[in-house]
Amino acid sequence: MTEEFLPYQLLSESELKEISELLSLPRNVVITTHHKPDADALGSSLALARYLRKKGHQASVITPSDYPAFLNWMPGEASVLAYDQDKPWEHLKAVFLEADIVFCLDFNSLSRINNLGDWVKESPGVKIMIDHHLQPDDFAAFKIWDTRAAATAELIFDFITLLGDHAMIDVPMAECLYAGLVTDTGSFRHPCTNRTVHLIVADLLRIGVNPSRIHKLVYDNNHLNRLRFLGFVLKDKLQVLPDYFTAFIAITKEEIREYNVDTGDTEGIVNYALSIRGMVMGIVIIDRKDQVKMSFRSVGDFDVNTFARKYFQGGGHKNAAGGKSELSLQDTVDKVLHSLKENKSELARAYAEYEKNTLS
Ligand code: 5GP
Ligand code: MN
Repeated sequence: MTEEFLPYQLLSESELKEISELLSLPRNVVITTHHKPDADALGSSLALARYLRKKGHQASVITPSDYPAFLNWMPGEASVLAYDQDKPWEHLKAVFLEADIVFCLDFNSLSRINNLGDWVKESPGVKIMIDHHLQPDDFAAFKIWDTRAAATAELIFDFITLLGDHAMIDVPMAECLYAGLVTDTGSFRHPCTNRTVHLIVADLLRIGVNPSRIHKLVYDNNHLNRLRFLGFVLKDKLQVLPDYFTAFIAITKEEIREYNVDTGDTEGIVNYALSIRGMVMGIVIIDRKDQVKMSFRSVGDFDVNTFARKYFQGGGHKNAAGGKSELSLQDTVDKVLHSLKENKSELARAYAEYEKNTLS
């Protein structure tokens, strides 16, 4: 039965044996995930932590930043240690330095975890990466990595199953994994949504997940400010560049302040840009406290992982990526316009292809 969930060869026999042996004694484990964790990052971390604790290990989840309040319902969330540069952090570093194993979830470059990257490097623990983003860096002893996986949550499900512990997945773990799968697949609509995803989800429902409850907690949990902000952005800030098949939104620091925008409030806005007929790419550019942060989404063949890497020190997946810029917001917008010019023919080609294959 469980083979059906495991279409990918994630580990060789000998790697699986090594990891099983490593986990055969109680270990000090630290689990970390990317900057501004989303539902997949946090859900995967909490599910893995719960599994490891049930197996008798000591497991801490340490995030490199805060995360959206709409994830606070996740079972185990109260035990997460979030790094905050304005608060004491030495005890967090100590957890890394005392770890036997460091799990790196939902990211594949240490640049994604800010200064925690140095702690991971300094840690004597065995590094295990579990991730589904393109072009991983080489910092882990073991990589449980497959870009065909719709979410890191899928890989956590696979990992526990490979270790022979599928029966240990309980409701709290299943809820966390389900949240990761719902959000990373865009509620089961992105191209990564395949049969395996639905088989795993069916199994999570068998275990006891209530999908409409999780949906409500993740998506229908807005504060009024957020919707007002969304209304403002769609009415006044959304710009369409038909020649480049691209729609973009640039948000200033003042606007963030005026609408009291919190971590997570801007999540999903980029999808509105992409939802406009005739668009190949949607871009959101936000002037955050410390840097300009960007989100890219695309349809069809236009590869935003490559685009984000080339121009904006970022990366991600073919159709969903992020990046950053040290320029001012206006200069970043100018750079975006310049990069669109450089990609004009590629965007037009991707649109023609997409229209032929998908829209007709
Ligand atoms: P989002 O736009 O939702 O922040 O991110 C989209 C995807 O790109 C996610 O899978 C996220 O992990 C990844 N991503 C976001 N920002 C960055 C970045 O600065 N660097 C890299 N390598 N990936 C990113
Ligand atoms: Mn993910």
